[in-house]
Amino acid sequence: MQSHTHAAVGACIGAAMTINAPVEVAAAGTAVAVVGAIISDIDVGGTGKRSTSWLVAGCSAALMAVPVVLGMVQQWAALGLFVLTCVYGALQEHRSFMHSIFAMVLLVAAIYVAMPNLPLYFAAGFLSHLLLDIITHRPVQLLYPLEKSVSLKLCYSKSRASQLLFLLGCAGTIILIIIRFL
Ligand SMILES: [Zn+2]
Repeated sequence: MQSHTHAAVGACIGAAMTINAPVEVAAAGTAVAVVGAIISDIDVGGTGKRSTSWLVAGCSAALMAVPVVLGMVQQWAALGLFVLTCVYGALQEHRSFMHSIFAMVLLVAAIYVAMPNLPLYFAAGFLSHLLLDIITHRPVQLLYPLEKSVSLKLCYSKSRASQLLFLLGCAGTIILIIIRFL
């Protein structure tokens, strides 16, 4: 699935999960959910546009600034481990390590130690990424390092379905933000 679709769906999930939370938690939670939703494609490497990896890394770093600025980071070492895991993932094949339950557990653990009130939002975003990729034609190595990969072949990454999900994610996010401040 395309990166902007993952980002929109992640934002919608984050906004929905934090609708009743204080504004700072909602801002940080939604930012972290979007990071969770887009970070897997840091491994896109040679298979997609090379700039996508940098775009994902840059957007994720910018979004992680939200909880950092709000003073929610308690363990910088854990955040360092998060970054190292992403660097390792970026060097692996597309849809392998960074698209696995193994990577999710490592990243969620790092987020939990660094920012104890935010791992659920990250995990929800990450799971949305895996689900959206699994419905496409290109297989996902969900159980990395095991070779077996999963693909439901319901649509292509660049398809009307992706555009529709992007629009639904954007609309859902905007509606949730409006509801929150009504
Ligand atoms: Zn992906």
